[in-house]
Amino acid sequence: TTFAALGLGPKILQAIEEAGYDTPTPIQAKAIPQIILGGDVTGIAQTGTGKTAAFVLPMIHRLERGRARARMPRTLILAPTRELAAQVAENFEKYGKNLKLEMALLIGGVSFKEQEMKLMRGVDVLIATPGRLIDQFERGKILLTGVEVLVIDEADRMLDMGFIPDIEKICALLPPRRQTLLFSATMPPEINKLAQRFQKDPMKVEV
Ligand code: AMP
Repeated sequence: TTFAALGLGPKILQAIEEAGYDTPTPIQAKAIPQIILGGDVTGIAQTGTGKTAAFVLPMIHRLERGRARARMPRTLILAPTRELAAQVAENFEKYGKNLKLEMALLIGGVSFKEQEMKLMRGVDVLIATPGRLIDQFERGKILLTGVEVLVIDEADRMLDMGFIPDIEKICALLPPRRQTLLFSATMPPEINKLAQRFQKDPMKVEV
């Protein structure tokens, strides 16, 4: 199949071409059309399979419509480590460069001042590690009531690192009517339980 056949728009297709990709990977071919439809998706895929683009591309597609409002991020991506969060941010920059997407990154080692200014102006994409996000939320710096899409990336590592209570807390702050995407390298019963708790009738895609 081709990226165009998956339903992505021309500006995103151009960025994909410039990145040098001509064929979607299996997880991309399966997940992208489902995510564009708007339902919850559980993706089981290891790093290296192209799983980051599998959620970043359809999210950019969705963000093309609508505008960010002050202090209210439209999408929230939770990653277990600052390195992974930074990688997701690079993906958004690469594939979203033909669109005017605003993004903030809440991770250790990145000064909050600059990110706070971006948040105040309004961001389409907020990428964070769970602890950092909760810190700033408790200081009253962020409103999460405008989040349309939540992504929980590397859910199995989140579990290993003890972040589930934080994710629980964050989910309670989000609008119940949202799209939730959960990605994990493996699907042990604990992750299945998480998917049931945070998602609604998720479609499972596996490679
Ligand atoms: P990930 O599984 O998200 O860590 O991605 C692994 C690597 O595959 C990254 O370096 C991507 O830039 C690259 N990649 C993602 N999608 C494709 C594709 N469709 N064709 C070729 N390379 C890709």
